[in-house]
Amino acid sequence: MSDQNPVFIPGPTNIPDQLRRAMNTQTIDHRAPDFVGVLKPVLEDLKKVFKTETGEMFIFPSSGTGGWEAAVTNTLSPGDKVLVARYGMFSHRWIDLCQRHGLDVEVIECNWGSGAPADRFESRLAEDTGHSIKAVLATHNETATGVRSDISAVRRAIDASNHPAMLYVDCVSSLASIDFRMDEWGVDIALSGSQKGFMLATGMAIVAVSEKAMEATKQARCPRCFFDFGEMLAATKKGGYPYTPPIQLIHGLRASLDMLFAEGLDHVFARHHRIAEGIRRAVAAWEMRLCAESPDLYSDTVSAIYVPEGFNSDELTNHAYNTYRVSFGIGLGEMAGKAFRIGHLGSMTDVMALSGVAAIEMAMKDLNYPIELGIGVAAAQRYYRETVKSV
Ligand SMILES: *Cc1c(COP(=O)(O)O)cnc(C)c1O
Repeated sequence: MSDQNPVFIPGPTNIPDQLRRAMNTQTIDHRAPDFVGVLKPVLEDLKKVFKTETGEMFIFPSSGTGGWEAAVTNTLSPGDKVLVARYGMFSHRWIDLCQRHGLDVEVIECNWGSGAPADRFESRLAEDTGHSIKAVLATHNETATGVRSDISAVRRAIDASNHPAMLYVDCVSSLASIDFRMDEWGVDIALSGSQKGFMLATGMAIVAVSEKAMEATKQARCPRCFFDFGEMLAATKKGGYPYTPPIQLIHGLRASLDMLFAEGLDHVFARHHRIAEGIRRAVAAWEMRLCAESPDLYSDTVSAIYVPEGFNSDELTNHAYNTYRVSFGIGLGEMAGKAFRIGHLGSMTDVMALSGVAAIEMAMKDLNYPIELGIGVAAAQRYYRETVKSV
């Protein structure tokens, strides 16, 4: 029965029954017209989620990590310089991937808990008068620390320094949950995955590419095969794939887009904000601290929470799972042992969120945390009661 408990990890997220059913389809011939009829509108509708009119859409059978690899290998050459800030485990892993592809990666080290440093990007770009920096890489929502960065500020920094560098953004744990505006923010490549805001099984990297980035593929010399934009675009223009497409996932994506549009993207974002705010009220009631350094950085999809001095967050998440069969995110990298995470994105309601707060609170009490049982739940309840009509 406990398999009915929602997960509170920030991906893969809970899958609505409707989407599980949509993915449960018999094999169809991916070269038959039926598949063409599914794929093309899905690619078109994805543009509404990325908020792009001119971008090209790609769906690779992969996880989000493949989106990083696709972005880099299609548009850059070994030795090309990229500018990137490290402020959590996911920005760290993207840096590692770039280094392994032979890029010249200039890393701006930031506190874990801070966001993309637009001002430091700007001064570095202004110095680069020879324009050796080809791209700036940013993680919109750093899932390890629960930090949502201001991507429009990064765009303004690039423009203010009159620099032609492209802007690549990881929006794996924000897209379809937190507002993302590819065209307005001048993002050249935006990449996501299927198992977070889209509420599907893992298995697709979803990538949006600007005209400028498509143009850059012509000079890019990084070896690429599976993730080649050119081959994929030529195939999808004809309604097909260069290899076997993940048909069941694409059917799921059709249903996911329908669900998101039926709720309305703005309502989806407002729901995430409200749920997140209730959880933040609980954190405040526990007198604990979020990793995110300031309220403007608070993520509406995941909260990373420091445990009090002398406690180990891994023990807490293990205990919550072993005792109550509820999963929470562990502390990653620098946060290991120090912080746990509550994922509150995708298929999530206020009532589900309350069950997560209640479960982790029981686990805390079992481990003698200095909290009063029910105090976090009550704080979240109060907020949800006050705001129930606003969504
Ligand atoms: C989940 C996630 C990824 C991708 O991870 P995969 O396991 O490869 O899907 C990348 N970036 C961020 C910010 C993420 O949250």
